[in-house]
Amino acid sequence: MSLWTDIEIRSAGDTVRKEDANWERLRFGVDESVKLLDPEIVTIIDAALASFTFGGFTSLDDMLFKLGVKLVISPDTPKRIVPDSLPEWVLYWKNELERLESLLGKDCASNTLYKDALKELEKAEKERDAWAAMALLGRYDRFSKEIILYPNNIPSPDQRKEYLVTTFIHEAMHAYFDRHPHELFPYVATVEEPLAEFGMLLYLKEAKKEENAHFADDALRKWAYDNVVSKKTCYRYGAALMDRYEKGDSQIRQDLESYKRKLF
Ligand SMILES: [Zn+2]
Repeated sequence: MSLWTDIEIRSAGDTVRKEDANWERLRFGVDESVKLLDPEIVTIIDAALASFTFGGFTSLDDMLFKLGVKLVISPDTPKRIVPDSLPEWVLYWKNELERLESLLGKDCASNTLYKDALKELEKAEKERDAWAAMALLGRYDRFSKEIILYPNNIPSPDQRKEYLVTTFIHEAMHAYFDRHPHELFPYVATVEEPLAEFGMLLYLKEAKKEENAHFADDALRKWAYDNVVSKKTCYRYGAALMDRYEKGDSQIRQDLESYKRKLF
């Protein structure tokens, strides 16, 4: 019997653990071709159930239940789709360089405007490539209302638990932000990704388990913060938002909460 089946059976019958009672509310998808270890599943459930006062919800479990979002563990290994704005940014500077070349002729390489444009092009290409190179560990599908985790894309086998739980919380933030289908709210990566990372770091700081102990220990908090900082894309700004919040800027938290899906 797999762990998944075991959990399914236990959650269908008499409740033996608090986790089981709430498991169904999370509606985890079951896929036999991808395995999570028991401590990994327990950590995700613990994260869902820990109390976290946020945007009118009392926990991630409460939030996902009320928003009708389920969590699916997928065996797939998809590649990340680079947002349109990044190749457009590259194209803009390529066109600009061409324009300057035709305007300035042979001497363009020594022209300051040309040199600046070249630097901008390199920056844009770097950002686009960094985005494409980032492992896709999870995503939120606003149409199927699913958080999908891709454990087979996790880069370091010895940090699976950390990647799984932080990705789950990050994607729960996207589910929180989502207004579909009541309102079409454009996904702007450079705004939403840092906010989702900030929300995840905020959760790790504030969420508490039943016995009022913090959900995350210092080691997990530090790991998550360092991981955000190390990102080469706009995700890393999530850590800067957290820094400001830690320094007492409470407006940041209000902005995060108000960037949200409305409940109807
Ligand atoms: Zn995201």
